[in-house]
Amino acid sequence: MSLLPTPQRPLDERRLRAAVEVANLPTLAMVTYHLTGDDRWLRDPFRPTKGAALEPHDTGGFAASAAAELKAGAVEAITAWSRGAEPAVPAPAPELLQRMLSTTMGESVPTEYEHLMREEMGFDPEPPPRPVPAAEVADRDFSVVVIGAGISGLIAAVRLKAAGVPFVVLERGDEVGGVWRTNTYPGAGVDTPSYLYSFSFYPRNWSTHFSKRDEVAAYTAEMADHFGLREHIEFGVDVEAATWDDDAQRWSVSAGDRRWSAAAVISAVGLFNTPKIPDLPGLDTFDGPVFHTAQWPDDVDLAGRRVAVVGTGASAMQVVPAVADRTSRLTVFQRSPQWVAPNAEYFAPVDDDVHWLMAHVPYYHAWYRFRLAWVFNDRVHASLQIDDSWEHPDRSLNAVNDGHRRYFTRYLEQQLAGRPDLVEKCLPDYPPFGKRMLLDNGWFAALRRDDVELVTDTVTRLTETGVVTAGGEERAADVVVLSTGFDAQHYLPGIRVTGRDGQDLHEWWGADDAAAHLGITVPGFPNLFLMYGPNTNAGAGGSFIFVAESQGRYIVDLVTSMIRDGIGALDCRPEALEGWVSEVDQAHDRMVWSHPGMSTYYRNARGRVVTNSPYRVVDYWAMTREPDLADFDAAPVPARAA
Ligand SMILES: Cc1cc2nc3c(=O)[nH]c(=O)nc-3n(C[C@H](O)[C@H](O)[C@H](O)COP(=O)(O)OP(=O)(O)OC[C@H]3O[C@@H](n4cnc5c(N)ncnc54)[C@H](O)[C@@H]3O)c2cc1C
Repeated sequence: MSLLPTPQRPLDERRLRAAVEVANLPTLAMVTYHLTGDDRWLRDPFRPTKGAALEPHDTGGFAASAAAELKAGAVEAITAWSRGAEPAVPAPAPELLQRMLSTTMGESVPTEYEHLMREEMGFDPEPPPRPVPAAEVADRDFSVVVIGAGISGLIAAVRLKAAGVPFVVLERGDEVGGVWRTNTYPGAGVDTPSYLYSFSFYPRNWSTHFSKRDEVAAYTAEMADHFGLREHIEFGVDVEAATWDDDAQRWSVSAGDRRWSAAAVISAVGLFNTPKIPDLPGLDTFDGPVFHTAQWPDDVDLAGRRVAVVGTGASAMQVVPAVADRTSRLTVFQRSPQWVAPNAEYFAPVDDDVHWLMAHVPYYHAWYRFRLAWVFNDRVHASLQIDDSWEHPDRSLNAVNDGHRRYFTRYLEQQLAGRPDLVEKCLPDYPPFGKRMLLDNGWFAALRRDDVELVTDTVTRLTETGVVTAGGEERAADVVVLSTGFDAQHYLPGIRVTGRDGQDLHEWWGADDAAAHLGITVPGFPNLFLMYGPNTNAGAGGSFIFVAESQGRYIVDLVTSMIRDGIGALDCRPEALEGWVSEVDQAHDRMVWSHPGMSTYYRNARGRVVTNSPYRVVDYWAMTREPDLADFDAAPVPARAA
């Protein structure tokens, strides 16, 4: 699949006419407005209705006559552009852009989005990082160690390289991509639309709307090649320790008997890297393959075999439909049910004509992506707040959340019509969005099969030949798949991090209570920057890549300030962290993940939400937009001995 070129003129007009037939019409209306400046494209009957839940809403809810008129108007405008006419509204002024954002969504989009989208859509492009003075870098022997070459590490690497900061990326695997390298289970793929789950600076035309693991992994590898990152990456290096030397103002990073010395360390080790293996008696004695989804063996053959899948989280929901017609019998063990949203595009390939629109029609990709960003990142946030006066606090948070509950319940009942046994097992009793919302990828259809059984009794042990539940019943199995998620509460697992005064980071955090200012910096650990740190997971869904880009920019801005301003040690002030934690905790007290109705890895043993951000993606973007040096104690580089 090609990456998106800058739209070129002239255009193939026959192709254009065919392509507008499959266009997302709310997107097309914005394109047509940009090109013509004719206000009627922002008014009825060309104002889309609001789309349902997470659906793409390609039709915009337009009447047939309005749709036809819009397509004709778009062909005319795009043709005129292709013959040399300049867009009438190349870069809308703030108020106008705000109006366009709300118009295309058919609902009010908060004003904060205008600033973000102005940059994202390229109307006011983000300035590249200012290159640092090479002499300063050389003089101080300034370099950065990045740990991990997943999405986060690659983003950090791109920005460090652009800023001219020397760096090395240490990656324990043999390829880039992080979770997209390791999760090879059948059906593995994104549940955020691919046109959103893409680097803003490296767009791509995807083969399907929700791409599978191979394509995402290939994309990250191509990105690393494109930006020449490989020469900076050392593979097969499993970092074990990082130790701060306050006199030298440097970190020493070690793996086995190898050492790296660096002025700063960026941890990009991810959140979903340590498979959570349940402590089940009999795991060792089961007489067949037992493995975690993230450790799927290359050579396992499920054809004609009885397979037990333990767990029904995001990975199970992808594995089960993907293998159900291969296995002879599939038993799915569920601890708690999940809310599942419909999405008509889940399996849909992206039409060639849509690829063409993305690549050839100006503004199309930007508006298409914005629509996904609003729907998947932040639209739902307001409905995740607890309403104290709400009369059904057990099942939902407020009236809107209750409406979501009704919508998803109706969908579930439709999918499981005629199977009251499954409806009862699959309908969650906690509020929608209490756990990560999952998209229906054939999950309900798989559960309906005669050769698939959904078991809700607790798994207690494995025998040599099967899985036993609390009632004592054994289900025979030839293969056991542990779809039991990840240990997401222990940040920087496996790395001993020692900061000022010999302080151990994990001891300082305690068993499962990690915290960092903006999820990025920790007092007493100068020049250490975390990506995907505590409280930065977007629990309501959305694209983590967006969060990682915000973090990458913030961190590299700090690093370049250190070089330019002669800062030797940049240490987060304790008050900054305390303020952040207190605000985060207060925000969470009012939000869905504090609801007692579900058990979730989002919360630690004390009930504090440690993984998720309570903020909208746009808020986090604003918070990390420009580092505030007042949040740090900055020690100057010591004067050098003559
Ligand atoms: C199956 C699956 C599906 C997902 N789907 C989505 C989705 O649809 N949308 C979404 O937004 N997010 C999704 N996520 C979340 C995903 O984790 C992030 O989107 C993103 O990929 C995280 O990138 P990362 O670089 O921060 O972490 P990772 O991808 O986890 O990469 C971390 C890297 O660090 C390396 N590393 C770790 N420890 C060390 C060490 N000690 N020494 C050296 N190297 C080390 C690892 O080998 C790995 O390569 C999904 C996660 C999983 C597991």
